Amino acid sequence: MARYFGSKCRICRRESAKLFLKGEKCFSDKCAMERRNYGPGVQGQRRRKVSDYGLHLREKQKIKRTYGLLEKQFHNYFEKAERMGGITGENLLILLERRLDNVVFRLGFSASRSEARQVVSHRQVLVNDHLVNIASYLVKPGDKVAITPAARSHLRIKGAMDSAARRGFPGWLDVDSVNMSGVFRALPDRADLPADYNENLIVELYSK
Ligand code: SF4
Repeated sequence: MARYFGSKCRICRRESAKLFLKGEKCFSDKCAMERRNYGPGVQGQRRRKVSDYGLHLREKQKIKRTYGLLEKQFHNYFEKAERMGGITGENLLILLERRLDNVVFRLGFSASRSEARQVVSHRQVLVNDHLVNIASYLVKPGDKVAITPAARSHLRIKGAMDSAARRGFPGWLDVDSVNMSGVFRALPDRADLPADYNENLIVELYSK
């Protein structure tokens, strides 16, 4: 499947959820979900009966698109989550949270996960003082993630950090805004992650 280059707001409207794909706009009243909270297209406002399969599929699409993944990548995470033992759905969410692009976003070094992916691929991120330019790199508890000295003056990164600081940071990260770095202190608990994710539906979908 090819990567999607269309409107990001259209994805949110399709999934009937704010997926925070566009950075600062997502936190403003310009968000398309605040203005037009119904499906895209001419049929968007029609009430549709959603099948049981449709419910499962939409939940998978919602989480997959939140983290900006293709189907194959997402399914690989699911298989890895299954092999880990314990609760597969929770393992899946924690694996997604450990992706380096996600951690860069959560630390406030970018306004969105897609921007975080650029920051990583443009060689602007250090993990434990070593350059890492792989967005899917899995961060471990105790790892230090920092912006490279050369990129610390970039206005886009500074602007993203200011906005993130106003909104606050997740409890499993320690953020040092002055030095543009942070520590992935511990794996998040399920209770720390969005309550509107229903990962059990994904487990059921892939188990059918
Ligand atoms: Fe989604 Fe952000 Fe667009 Fe709102 S502004 S619809 S949250 S991508």
